[in-house]
Amino acid sequence: MPPTDRSTSFHSRLVGQYALVTGASQGIGRAVAVRLAQEGATVAINYFQNEDRAEETLALARAASSDRGHGEPDHFTVKADVGNEHEIAAMFEGTLSRWKRLDCLVNNAGFQKESPSEALDVETYRNIIDVNLTGAVLCAQKALAHFVARGGGGSIINCSSVHQIIPKPGYLAYSISKGGMANLTRTLALEFAGRGIRVNAVGPGAIDTPINEAWRDDPKKRGEVTSHIPLGRVGTPEEIAAVFAFLASDDASYITGQTLYACGGLTLFPEFRDNWAS
Ligand code: NAD
Repeated sequence: MPPTDRSTSFHSRLVGQYALVTGASQGIGRAVAVRLAQEGATVAINYFQNEDRAEETLALARAASSDRGHGEPDHFTVKADVGNEHEIAAMFEGTLSRWKRLDCLVNNAGFQKESPSEALDVETYRNIIDVNLTGAVLCAQKALAHFVARGGGGSIINCSSVHQIIPKPGYLAYSISKGGMANLTRTLALEFAGRGIRVNAVGPGAIDTPINEAWRDDPKKRGEVTSHIPLGRVGTPEEIAAVFAFLASDDASYITGQTLYACGGLTLFPEFRDNWAS
């Protein structure tokens, strides 16, 4: 079972930080925005289409700040398609002109679509790569330009996946996008380490969010999913958000270029739990 009361594990590690979270209208992005606010950060909540859900995230972030004694930070929502370079540029211009600073970028936005690989149409392929990978690259460039211009410091945290290292048949573009995140994270980490900028990634396993609508509300399918997970359950968005908060904080001040897998053991080759190969 997931921990029922996490309140004792909350800190105020992010007071003074300004963080932009992409794809924060729901799921992991929403949980990250709320957790960062709980820990004292001011958050920009990017959304693609669903303004109402982004406003819900905003209300949750405001309540989180207030409940934890952080007052009324300047949280706000910002609409942008992360698959569109012009909208990314406008999002950063708006955010930086409002706050005059940014300390943390969370590249969370992403989606997947199933298709036999031999029939994957090029438009779908490009769209997934544009949002999941190129969007993360372009957002990182904007954040890095700001970090460098102010003399260094700051962090970027990419939302990758266990599919950064585990193939996902039937989801070729998604697998490629998450595989690319490994070298996006590591290359930028090495390039900017000398300027005190950290770049890391989180690799979630199967998490209870709308991206998994194919099985999350179907007990039989959900049971099939959990049967493959060593910890025996899917993860919560809050458990993933906790990893983002850690990586954004000074508790992770000596960590860069890493992907931290929060996956209930999915990356441990679960098929080897029982001895069948020797
Ligand atoms: P989700 O579908 O609930 O959230 C995805 C978010 O990305 C949504 O808010 C959506 O609006 C946003 N988004 C999609 N296209 C966008 C665009 N063009 N511009 C801006 N935002 C856009 O799913 P989630 O599970 O919360 O996914 C968040 C991230 O976590 C994704 O990168 C996903 O690949 C990754 N992830 C999820 C799981 C899981 O099991 N849930 C596992 C591994 C990795």
